[in-house]
Amino acid sequence: MTSAGRFAPSPSGELHVGNLRTSILAWLFARSTGRRFLMRVEDLDRARAGAEAEQLRDLAAIGVSWDGGVVRQTDRGAHYAEAIARLSAAGLTYECFCTRREIQEAPSAPHAPQGAYPGTCRNLTAAEREEKRAARPAAVRLRSAATEATVQDVLHGSYTGVVDDFVLRRNDGVTAYNLAVVVDDAAQGIDQVVRGDDLLPSTPRQAYLASLLNMPVPEYVHVPLVVNADGARLAKRDGAVTLADLALSGISADEVRDALLASLGLPAGPLENALAVFDPDALPREPWVWPGLKRAGSELA
Ligand code: GLU
Repeated sequence: MTSAGRFAPSPSGELHVGNLRTSILAWLFARSTGRRFLMRVEDLDRARAGAEAEQLRDLAAIGVSWDGGVVRQTDRGAHYAEAIARLSAAGLTYECFCTRREIQEAPSAPHAPQGAYPGTCRNLTAAEREEKRAARPAAVRLRSAATEATVQDVLHGSYTGVVDDFVLRRNDGVTAYNLAVVVDDAAQGIDQVVRGDDLLPSTPRQAYLASLLNMPVPEYVHVPLVVNADGARLAKRDGAVTLADLALSGISADEVRDALLASLGLPAGPLENALAVFDPDALPREPWVWPGLKRAGSELA
């Protein structure tokens, strides 16, 4: 299988300029290294009807093209179940009956890092599990032998973060993102993961899980986010931040693409122009504050 990069949007709403900027970077990293570029729709959770088609249309409109068809996570349940079964057969999972509240209120284990699962259900007896199963369905957690792991990131260097007994399958039966992403990246031959740096803290968990499943750990590139004037991650409430909103102000997809390229120090026009001069070392390392885009002479913000 030839090597590949990817973009993996969650179709829970519209893509905003931050997501679009990350997609351009993922495309540039893949294409500049001779990789294929794949599109995966991460629709396991909170998918909104119509959002996938809108997102794919917006990506195409700014020139982000992909190879082959779109892979959807909702079509891949058997692969996730198989991976969880393999881990279970090796004694690397357990059932967890905790509510979110119980986890928050549980005293944390000594030396456990902030945010780590406190281990409440790790050593339940068969009889205790039986009794709890009658009350509520179980989630499946990883029985982790590590408390942290280190990954290498092209922009962040060596990054060490928490690995705990994280959830592999939620108690509503939905596969957890951390499991799905690892299984899918390996199945699709993805060896380069470019995404927003809000996901960097999840990456040690994913790399550790990949190693348990004997799957290769990809190259990671966590890129800076786009933020609003207050420094918070950009969101819909920050005004005209989607192609559809901006089109209402008379701004074309080409103009949005050019503004995003300019924010990366890259030339305007089709993405091929940027590809010709793309240099990862020259990329800005700081979050980009979205300045808004206005039609010249327009009253619209
Ligand atoms: N689906 C995730 C998101 O939209 C991205 C996951 C990934 O790139 O690994 O935030």
